[in-house]
Amino acid sequence: MRRLRRIKIIATLGPKTLNPASLRQLIEAGVDVFRLNMSHGGRDAIRDRVAMIRAIERDLDRPIGILADLQGPKLRVASFAGGKVELAKGATFTLDSNPAPGDAKRVHLPHPEILSSLEPGHRVLLDDGKLAMTVVKATPKKTTLRVDIGGALSDRKGVSLPDTIIPVSAMTEKDRGDLDAALEAGVDWIAVSFVQRPDDLAEVRKVARGRALVMAKIEKPQAIARLDEIMEASDALMVARGDLGVEMPMEKVPGLQKRITREARRLGKPVVIATQMLESMITSPVPTRAETSDVATAVFEGADAVMLSAESAVGQYPIEAVAMMNRIANEVESDPLFRAIIDNQRADHESTGSDAIAAAARAIADTLDLKAIIALTASGSTGLRVARERSQSPVIALTPSIDTARRLALAWGVHAVTTEDFTDQEEMVTRACAIATHEGFASPGDRIMIVAGVPFGSQGATNMVRIAFIPKH
Ligand code: PGA
Ligand code: MN
Repeated sequence: MRRLRRIKIIATLGPKTLNPASLRQLIEAGVDVFRLNMSHGGRDAIRDRVAMIRAIERDLDRPIGILADLQGPKLRVASFAGGKVELAKGATFTLDSNPAPGDAKRVHLPHPEILSSLEPGHRVLLDDGKLAMTVVKATPKKTTLRVDIGGALSDRKGVSLPDTIIPVSAMTEKDRGDLDAALEAGVDWIAVSFVQRPDDLAEVRKVARGRALVMAKIEKPQAIARLDEIMEASDALMVARGDLGVEMPMEKVPGLQKRITREARRLGKPVVIATQMLESMITSPVPTRAETSDVATAVFEGADAVMLSAESAVGQYPIEAVAMMNRIANEVESDPLFRAIIDNQRADHESTGSDAIAAAARAIADTLDLKAIIALTASGSTGLRVARERSQSPVIALTPSIDTARRLALAWGVHAVTTEDFTDQEEMVTRACAIATHEGFASPGDRIMIVAGVPFGSQGATNMVRIAFIPKH
């Protein structure tokens, strides 16, 4: 199964799509990576879900990435005696440590460590920012707030604290259990929610021990403040626009999306644009023109992937949403302006041998209009360095590791194929040509480019480019 599209599609699975028939249809419609939301389902559920995806993957003979998304410290108020209260602008409201049901004056905040880190002047946003309050007085057991934007507040609504550094790691006890279960089930990527500091990622990486790569969800101002270090500490980034647009002024999100995308492209780390991309398709078979344009913007920016959330998890039109993303991406990528925009935003290559080789391979392939760049990659690192160049020629990553092939499902323009290690260069050329032909990228008489590290089996040394002719029989 060969796709022409370079940007990848991630679909979140949910009640609507967690079944073999839907998984197959989703992949056929264009999904490259599935996202499992760890907020729902226990250890057995994740094992079964991963097994279900792997069975379809085997059937379709195409490496599929699985991204497990840890819930993180999503803060919520407790419940109200009447289920719901109405809070007026200017009123005083209290968050406290008393587990009794709430009323129009107060409610329990079941996170003691949060109560003790709030300070006067901090903003407290409730229900995705629909209500806004400011701390006027804070004690370890009780925080007094002034209501700035009022409205209805009901049981277990979310609490966002854009000004407060939360004194807990991005992983809760539940997340630790979920992380173990996800790693045991064999997922490829772990997404860490509400990252505030590089240590949040180091903690996950330590537990993962190389079994999965780590993606930082950028959704807090604290993460924006330390963006460089956080990007350095992660393997991939998600522009998590849902919470980011609550914790920061919404109008800052588009600029941040551009900044994070460019910086990730510069570093050669996959970057995902997420949330509300085709939101109206939860209930409608066609998106709005504005949503279509939003997906197109991500494609023009050269993001590695666009993501569906509720659209594919609980929406009425999951397959249509994927097909729509696929159509938008194909159209944008064949737009005459696309190449110029992508090339314009290409950062200079970094001064390592691998980057210099990847840049040279791209330049030669584009100049000679080669049919494919074949990257031999064991760990996936050469695959990512070549993807970073955003070449006009498609990239085929050849790897002996199915784990690497699945991880590369997230990377821009990379078509990964598993194949045994190579013994010598002549054999490499023969087999690379055969695979490029078999996978539908080249025909006899065409030329391809091969990027590799020789001698084979040595770690981390990408040092060779080779142009090869596909033999005419
Ligand atoms: P979520 O993350 O869907 O897990 O909240 C994405 C976002 O906040 O945009
Ligand atoms: Mn979020």
